[in-house]
Amino acid sequence: MRRQRPTLLAVSTLIAVTLTTAPTPANAHRAAPPDQVSALTAHQADGYTTLAWQPVDGATDYQIERTPVDADNNPTGAPTIVGIWRPNRQINQQAPTFADAGYHPGDTFQWRVRARTGSTEQPYSEPVTATTTAPWGNPTTPGESLRTQWETTHAAQYTSDTDEYAYTAAIDALSDRVRVVELGRTVQNRPINMLVIGHPTPPATPAAVAATAPVAINCNVHGNEPGDREACLIMARQLAFSTDPRVTDLLRHTTVLIVPTINGDGRANNTRGNSTGQDLNRDYSLIRQPETAAYITMVRDYRPVAGYDGHEFGNSRAGDLPMLPPRHQNVAQPIFDQSQDMIEGHMYAKGAEAGWWACPYGCEGGGNVGLSEETILRNTLGLKNVTNSLLELRSSGGQTRPDEGNTANNRRRKTYSALWTFQQFLDYHRGDRADILTARTEAIESQAANTGRLVFRGSRPIPAHPAPHPGDSPPPLDAPPADLILDNPPCAYKLTDAQYNGARTDGPGGVGTTVAQRIAAHGWKVITIGDDHYVPLNQPERGLIPLLLDTKGVEKLADGERVYPTLTGRRNGPLVVTGFTCADDATINGPVTVRAGAALVTTATTISGPLTATGAAGVLLADSTVNGPVRIATTTDAISIIDVTIAGPVDLSGNTTGTDAPVLAGTTIRGPLSCTGNNPAPTNLGVANTVNGPRTAQCAAL
Ligand SMILES: [Zn+2]
Repeated sequence: MRRQRPTLLAVSTLIAVTLTTAPTPANAHRAAPPDQVSALTAHQADGYTTLAWQPVDGATDYQIERTPVDADNNPTGAPTIVGIWRPNRQINQQAPTFADAGYHPGDTFQWRVRARTGSTEQPYSEPVTATTTAPWGNPTTPGESLRTQWETTHAAQYTSDTDEYAYTAAIDALSDRVRVVELGRTVQNRPINMLVIGHPTPPATPAAVAATAPVAINCNVHGNEPGDREACLIMARQLAFSTDPRVTDLLRHTTVLIVPTINGDGRANNTRGNSTGQDLNRDYSLIRQPETAAYITMVRDYRPVAGYDGHEFGNSRAGDLPMLPPRHQNVAQPIFDQSQDMIEGHMYAKGAEAGWWACPYGCEGGGNVGLSEETILRNTLGLKNVTNSLLELRSSGGQTRPDEGNTANNRRRKTYSALWTFQQFLDYHRGDRADILTARTEAIESQAANTGRLVFRGSRPIPAHPAPHPGDSPPPLDAPPADLILDNPPCAYKLTDAQYNGARTDGPGGVGTTVAQRIAAHGWKVITIGDDHYVPLNQPERGLIPLLLDTKGVEKLADGERVYPTLTGRRNGPLVVTGFTCADDATINGPVTVRAGAALVTTATTISGPLTATGAAGVLLADSTVNGPVRIATTTDAISIIDVTIAGPVDLSGNTTGTDAPVLAGTTIRGPLSCTGNNPAPTNLGVANTVNGPRTAQCAAL
């Protein structure tokens, strides 16, 4: 979609008016040749300048020239070609823009742009001169005056670990909007901090933050890719202290979660992996390492609905900002679609306004990248029903930014392009929050329904757009191989006690957390009967569970035993559930009683009711109907009711399910809902229920 640029068009109009209403002999004979770029404007933003001009017919590309000038517009350095505009940069070819960055913010420059037709250079435009925007924040206002080590050294140094801690602690101390929490420690005992940012103050607890549909930015997983981290630190200051109504509006409507450095050891040593050499972005599902375990536990507790994950990438032909959605085919379609909308609907359009070149990761001969490993945060988050994207910053200046042999200029372009992206991410969430939440609800309900094949590796295709277009060269297809597809999904995986609680040696130092601990960090419900531990698939993260517990899993934790439904089809008469019972596509005409210590798991099942469970190990209902009352009391392990229609009162009482809260989500109850004495109290995961009766006690807000 072509979007207008009101500010820039207004400036262009003013120039045109000046030329047409005040002709003089001096400029009359300077009428622009047809091949000369006209109406050049320079719009200032944080760390970059958007140059825009009227296109020249037949131009194959444009060169952007920048010259440093003093206060009297006298050159203080040589003119330099700093940019090459190519047609595949942007979606609206008729309104070319280029984000020039890499200079020292606050300096003054003159710019000119010329078209090239093939190798023929056309005349330069008339110059425009402007003073660029200084680093954000009034230097005399407390808080705003904070600067990172990277800023104070003019990008000569990256911000060190200790400087980061001091900077974020100062923001925390000076801004009511910010709370810095420690998510965990790295292998070498560095704190992994997260800024929790809201207005006027951030909500007090993770659950309260979760209720605001928060967004999360992971800034630095690969220690030798530090550009995004510097952007995160600058953005944290802006969010903490800006009085811009846009910022306060954003923070009144959600909570922003920023993790500057998940891989503090790798950053300190400038290595891709952590101190053990593990690539943390191949560990978010397995969570063998303390860093990834900390992040995944955060996702469980704070429940971000949208995310970005920052990287740098070395393809010199690629765009400024390669991005990619969660593509693994087990990701729910609405999450893939919403993530694609964020990238192609929002970032491509806004990039064309600002002059930044977003494209799919893997674009322009990017190689065999952007695939389906569920160990990559992009895919892990998608499998957790989070709308999200990878962000890559092109490491080198590449063919379109020829001035970046200068290291500081190169670093500044990367960081300010990341800052633009993250700010756009917040705007997207603000504008499309309802759609993001709808996608999440649909994803949770479709995952819990446990329908459709499971794929162990394989991606959804990223469609190519007709060239020239930022998306004209997508990453590889990455179709799932036949031997990594399971057409008939089981109801659950059964783990032995040795598999579940046994010691592991796949963590740092040859030790590791147990499967039980990792499943708990993911937030999956588990039912224990005797020595067996069952992980049902009718859960919101259904697409991720088999990747870790099925024998076909490419990078798995255990060879769990597939458990298939034993109750299908029509059954008449009372049913007493003992042991682990799974019903799928069943119609049960009669009352159902779940015995103490037993478990019932249903999908696509209708029960005439009533359904009564007292002292059960677990009751997990999804995509089902109960035409009668439901009473679940004193359950010991797990309760989940997702997308169920219940004609009758629902009573949850005295259930004690450890640290795992009962879930009641996306469910319609024709009758009263009562929840008393449950520890912990039930949650709806942010997916509302419809209750045609009073909701009382612990379920009053569900
Ligand atoms: Zn990376």
